[in-house]
Amino acid sequence: METNYETIVIGGGVVGSGIAYHLSERYKEGVLVLDKKYPMSGTSGSTQAWVWVHNKTPSWYAEFSMYSAELYPYLSKKIGDVEYKRTGGLSPFFNESDREKAQKLAESYRKIGIKIKVLSREEVLEKEPYMNPEVAGATYSSIDGNVNPFRLIDMYMRAAKRNGVRYSTYNRVTEIRQVNGKYLVVSDKGAFECKNLILAGGTWSREIGDMLGVKIPVNQLRGQILVSEPLKPFLNFTISGLRQANNGEVLMGYSMEEAGFNRATTLDVIQETANMAVRYVPGLRKAKIVRAFSGIRAMPEDGFPILGNVPGYENLYVAATHSGVTLSPLIGTLITELIMDGETSIPIDRYSLSRFG
Ligand SMILES: Cc1cc2nc3c(=O)[nH]c(=O)nc-3n(C[C@H](O)[C@H](O)[C@H](O)COP(=O)(O)OP(=O)(O)OC[C@H]3O[C@@H](n4cnc5c(N)ncnc54)[C@H](O)[C@@H]3O)c2cc1C
Repeated sequence: METNYETIVIGGGVVGSGIAYHLSERYKEGVLVLDKKYPMSGTSGSTQAWVWVHNKTPSWYAEFSMYSAELYPYLSKKIGDVEYKRTGGLSPFFNESDREKAQKLAESYRKIGIKIKVLSREEVLEKEPYMNPEVAGATYSSIDGNVNPFRLIDMYMRAAKRNGVRYSTYNRVTEIRQVNGKYLVVSDKGAFECKNLILAGGTWSREIGDMLGVKIPVNQLRGQILVSEPLKPFLNFTISGLRQANNGEVLMGYSMEEAGFNRATTLDVIQETANMAVRYVPGLRKAKIVRAFSGIRAMPEDGFPILGNVPGYENLYVAATHSGVTLSPLIGTLITELIMDGETSIPIDRYSLSRFG
């Protein structure tokens, strides 16, 4: 295998593969993606995969997510059907007292061009007839949706490979050194040299950063998801808590637990998740649960993406974030712009690693 590349991306999840694909659209120099396992083995293969905008706070972060959601239809056109569905998103509330909070959210989003409606109980039930009739209302935004994360990564990889990107899987990076103004990336399958190095190791970002003495403050936050048997299509929207996939399975849950890298599923969270799902959609009581899985979020210390140049290093870039499925097309676009043009079409200063001091 070739050992000299213009650019190496460490991590082939939805973030790293998104960057590699977007780079390959503009840039025919050698790009190599290295993954210690395979591209769906990390968080990107264990996610709800909502493309979610509404009720992200503060509103500038929602705005950033909106730009990414807007790229999805075009992305599907370019790389193929990733089962992206702009279903619209519903965030139900069960107490009338929450309506005021919902209205404040809608008001703050109006200023940035995200239209949120605050629905009455009747409007919610009209849109989503299987929702619990005890619902008091919901916020609704038409921009939310979901995607099939496996198809997304698969299509990214196929398109990237067609454009000349190389992938090396089951190949763990163990050491990174700077040699003569380049990066020497030492891996299980040999050493590779590159000019540009992109750190997209998701929840393992901290240990990859340590190889260069760069502190990337990303922590682990486990999430457990229940999956039902395939049911006839009956849910219309992406509901903050559950969604129905194209094959009829309902994916339920969004737990957040500090469990390090432990990917176990646990009975207490499974029960809480089942209760939440039944509260939202009582008919799910009858559904058979066929499996539960867990994933480990890459959670930056302050919750916001870490993107862009690594301060103090030439040609070294980082992309580590929660909500990486939502943000993937935008991150791919912006990191490509940064490498190719030296600037980005949307400012990313607030996401710089330098904010952590
Ligand atoms: C339960 C749950 C629900 C979620 N729901 C949503 C959602 O609805 N919407 C949304 O947008 N986001 C959601 N997320 C978050 C989203 O899934 C992640 O932000 C996204 O998958 C991160 O992608 P990534 O490419 O950064 O990381 P990963 O997919 O983990 O990819 C990182 C890759 O780096 C590789 N790697 C690590 N170390 C090395 C090394 N030393 N050498 C070589 N390779 C290495 C790994 O093998 C891995 O493949 C959810 C996450 C969880 C856990």
